Amino acid sequence: MDNQNISFQNRLAYDKMSFYYLSLPVLLVGNLMGAFLLSAIQLDVVDSYSIIIWLSISIVMFFYGMYHYMLFKKEDEENKLKDANIWLDRYYADTLINGIIWGSTAFLMFPESSLMNQMLVIFFLFAVGFSAMGILASKKDLLITYVSVMFLPIVLRLFFMENQVSNNIGYILLALVLLMTIASNYYGKVINKGLMSRQDFVSIKHTHEKLKERFFALFERAPVGIYYYNQDLEIEDANEHFLHMNGQKTKNKLLETKINAFKSRQIAAVHKDVFNLKAGDYRGPYAAMDDTDLYVKLSTVPMINAAGEVAGGIAIINDITSEVTAKEEMVRTAYYDFLTNIPNRTLLMDKLKFFLTDKKSDPRYGALLFMDIDNFKKVNETFGHDVGDKLLKQASSRMATVLNSDEVFARVGGDKFALLLPALDKEKSDAENSAKKYIQTIHDVFVEPLAVMGEEYHLSFSTGVVFFKDPEASAFDILKRSETAMYEAKKSARGTDMFYHENMGAYAKEQLSLENDIHRAISNNELSMVYQPQIDLTTDHIVSAEALVRWKHPEKGFISPTIFIPIAEESGTIIKLEEWIFDTVFEEIKQLKNNGDEGTLKRVAVNLSTVHFMQPNFVEKFTLLVAKHKIEPRWVEIEITESGIMRNLDDATKKINELKSFGFTFAIDDFGTGHSSLAYLKKLPVGMIKIDRSFVTNMHQDMGDTMIVESVVSIGQNFNLQVLAEGVEDAVTLAYLKKINCDLYQGRFGYHPVPIEDLVSLLK
Ligand code: C2E
Ligand code: CA
Ligand code: CA
Repeated sequence: MDNQNISFQNRLAYDKMSFYYLSLPVLLVGNLMGAFLLSAIQLDVVDSYSIIIWLSISIVMFFYGMYHYMLFKKEDEENKLKDANIWLDRYYADTLINGIIWGSTAFLMFPESSLMNQMLVIFFLFAVGFSAMGILASKKDLLITYVSVMFLPIVLRLFFMENQVSNNIGYILLALVLLMTIASNYYGKVINKGLMSRQDFVSIKHTHEKLKERFFALFERAPVGIYYYNQDLEIEDANEHFLHMNGQKTKNKLLETKINAFKSRQIAAVHKDVFNLKAGDYRGPYAAMDDTDLYVKLSTVPMINAAGEVAGGIAIINDITSEVTAKEEMVRTAYYDFLTNIPNRTLLMDKLKFFLTDKKSDPRYGALLFMDIDNFKKVNETFGHDVGDKLLKQASSRMATVLNSDEVFARVGGDKFALLLPALDKEKSDAENSAKKYIQTIHDVFVEPLAVMGEEYHLSFSTGVVFFKDPEASAFDILKRSETAMYEAKKSARGTDMFYHENMGAYAKEQLSLENDIHRAISNNELSMVYQPQIDLTTDHIVSAEALVRWKHPEKGFISPTIFIPIAEESGTIIKLEEWIFDTVFEEIKQLKNNGDEGTLKRVAVNLSTVHFMQPNFVEKFTLLVAKHKIEPRWVEIEITESGIMRNLDDATKKINELKSFGFTFAIDDFGTGHSSLAYLKKLPVGMIKIDRSFVTNMHQDMGDTMIVESVVSIGQNFNLQVLAEGVEDAVTLAYLKKINCDLYQGRFGYHPVPIEDLVSLLK
């Protein structure tokens, strides 16, 4: 019985039981034959009644024993095991009864007369007793009971007989029985020990196997790669995870692998560490057997054999590729531009700072080139952002072909790039020549057009260059200066470059100070609103007025919105500024209406900056503000430029529709300057287009302008849009606009922008 779940005692009982029952038939048959033989021999000397009674009891006993044997045979193993002790008791009982039956021969089968026959009974008792004792030997108390019931009657009988010979035989018999019992007992002990050590062995074997099983489960199913290798650096065994890491289904190929064959020297070295009784550690790239590039953490420990020698090593290998790539990804998003995969502004500034501190020991000039793609806005607006993005990517990879290893090429904004050349020459003039050469190289590389979606694009850059050697200047200043120089370059012609000089700095400083002044202007009441009437060309009535902001700077006097609005947009101040503007306009218009001064005026137009419009919560903010002043939305027209709409057409369309549903109306400002496709117009939910004044003002001098104005007017009619002409400065233009059925006009010929009080007078 090898089942480990059963207790040791039970298994021992089971083993004993199996051993007994196996010999039971032989024993029973032997006993029965003995009984017949004895009966036959004693027939002449013992009375036949006694013989019949004794033989019948023996036969019954035989069948009773056989019956038990049959039961035992039929019983299934599990029950036998469970009831091992019951079966044993049954067996012991049978044997004891048998002993009693044979013991009874001392009375029933023992002839007083024939000494010869008496000796035969004793002989039979010994024969039967001996075979049984061998079996009973393993159970001491049973053995003694058995011997007692078997031999005591005959011994007593012999002692009570009144002749010396019988008495002597009694003594001899007693001595023999004692001797036999002692021998059997000893023999029994040996059997028991044997049985027990067999079970001990089974137990140990099981414990061992269980441990082995557990170890292998741990080894095989561990979530890390484990393998062990011998002194020849050959893999002896490897677990599932290691196979999986190497893209192997079976161990075959792995087990032939020598660790030396691993591609990295470092990895082989870590495996050899164990032979110097050291643990090895490695963290780095790892080429798996299926050529996948992994990043792993590998540890090795010596494997010591029973003799205490290093027989090889155990290696534990952990695939941390995803962890590492996640970290790399984090660095990438922080320091690299997501579109072009080149360094971003942050990384550029880091490098620039680093080189600036380096300049203390390096006497050479470095240069920062600020590069802006010419007319990129146009590409974006005409061909869409997809094409624009692809061009930026291609331009970046083409730039890579001219870069040296210590140079940094970064994307610092939309179509703006910066190239950092850390060390050119000691002399400024040499450095300037080197920079010029570099710019020429870039120019040459871009002579060949870029191809996107089957179309060819010629790219050129306007470049601003600033040289640095002086570690006093901050990285921020240097970038700002290069940008200023770039804007100067842009002013001349496309594809040109400009070196930065101090005067440009003054301009940049001016910009910066204005930026700060706008904040102050809002709270200091330096701003005011004026309104320029918009006149219906068929009725000559003032139907609307465009609100325009005015700024009277305490030192610089009036500053044009064409100067400060772009600065406010760039710095984000525009949002605060326009909040002030809307607040003021709505309040003034409400007053006008409350005073009943509106006359023919139906609405007021406000300019909305794209920066503000693109704010996610703009719609909510704007409607709340209008509601606060209790103005009906139909009184407010929003002027937005076409480039503002095109920058994010989906978002703009959504917002325009939302605001329209409240009752606000929309006009596209500066129409004709933004290169927007007319096809979009149909889709846009606007009510009016304003022809830019650059076409209108010079109309009568320029045939091209006349044609543009005429076609915009007819497009407006086709799309059911009102058309307003801006910048009407003379009567000829006005008459012509009337002739071609333009709807509205606005301009100095009609009215200049005026404060609200003056507007009220105009309406009277
Ligand atoms: P805009 O929206 O195209 O505004 C019309 C501009 O044309 C105004 O200049 C106006 O004074 C000017 N103008 C009107 N009639 C004539 C004319 O007959 N001839 C000429 N040459 N010009 C005329 P302003 O007020 O200097 O504004 C310039 C630009 O500044 C505006 O162009 C607009 O883009 C921006 N701006 C002005 N006020 C605001 C404002 O409150 N908010 C926003 N976001 N932008 C504003
Ligand atoms: Ca406007
Ligand atoms: Ca305009």
